[in-house]
Amino acid sequence: MSKIHRLSTRLANQIAAGEVVERPASVVKEVLENSLDAGATRVDVDVEGGGVKLIRIRDNGSGMPPDDLPLAMARHATSKIVSLEDLEAVGSLGFRGEALASIGSVSRLTLTSNADEEGSGGNSASCEGRDMDVVVKPAPHPQGTTVEVRDLFFNTPARRKFLRTEKTEFNHLEEVVKRLALSRFDVAFSLRHNGRTIHQLKSGTSQAEQQRRVATVCGPAFMEQAIYVENEVPGLRLWGWVGLPTFSRSQADLQYFFVNGRVIRDKLIAHAVKQAYRDVLYHGRHPAFVLYLELDPALVDVNVHPTKHEVRFRDGRSVHNFIFSSLHRALADVRPADQLPENT
Ligand code: ADP
Ligand code: MG
Repeated sequence: MSKIHRLSTRLANQIAAGEVVERPASVVKEVLENSLDAGATRVDVDVEGGGVKLIRIRDNGSGMPPDDLPLAMARHATSKIVSLEDLEAVGSLGFRGEALASIGSVSRLTLTSNADEEGSGGNSASCEGRDMDVVVKPAPHPQGTTVEVRDLFFNTPARRKFLRTEKTEFNHLEEVVKRLALSRFDVAFSLRHNGRTIHQLKSGTSQAEQQRRVATVCGPAFMEQAIYVENEVPGLRLWGWVGLPTFSRSQADLQYFFVNGRVIRDKLIAHAVKQAYRDVLYHGRHPAFVLYLELDPALVDVNVHPTKHEVRFRDGRSVHNFIFSSLHRALADVRPADQLPENT
């Protein structure tokens, strides 16, 4: 007798959810990224109970037609890539078609959406951690989408046990909103927790507006003690703000690095930055920075990890050198003169 059987859709999704949905913050990340991929210019995040009780994210993006709502919740269903070639030059934040299916398998998920530019009509669809029998019904909504995630991990007690206090979960979630807000100055963001407005960020891409957002997100003290850096060589451009050594931190908690608009935490980059600061920071102190690296998407692989925090550079060494030398030069004015390398 055969011992092998197929996993139910629900169980397969719940297992996959283990990779994508760790805590409320991961839900916010996935749902916000979808809003950005849908071309939203305004995204409102409303959460309760640290996001465990409720996460509601509303955007004014493209919206989805009714037939797409059940598909959006199905596994391996995406509008973002069709072929392997697409993947190589992927410009969207998502492409695995896994997030909503995973979230839906461990929460009560409702999508309400309208793809009509006139903004009339709208439909909603829900699933409740069950096998995916999704019913679509009319529900008014302006153009765009609202994703509502209630009672995260209600059906997976083992996962729920790993959740921390409401405050800790909210802090993680807020950090996600901050990162994405720093990655898209052209999008307005708001964040409310238990009915209280925590962030209200207007969109604007002028240098002054960007600086205002960075100051709001990272604190005015950072902006006052940061210098603007900008450097370019063929194929690579780096810009952003780096904290002066006077603004060093006891923890690496104010470090934002974006590669082609994606939030990245990468060892190679961290090393390059650390090296550049080496002779201006005391041992054990950490620099603060908000930096943006732009390069040909074909020279960087973002499909390394499900949460896509890591990347792989085709030519890691030249990226490392470029970041190091750009920052090293920017920090030259604050470096003690006797420590300047020769010939600079
Ligand atoms: P992925 O983002 O990897 O494609 P998801 O599970 O996150 O997978 O989303 C599945 C699909 O649902 C997306 O490809 C997109 O077509 C659609 N979708 C999800 N969220 C939104 C949104 N806010 N606005 C418009 N379409 C959306
Ligand atoms: Mg997605």
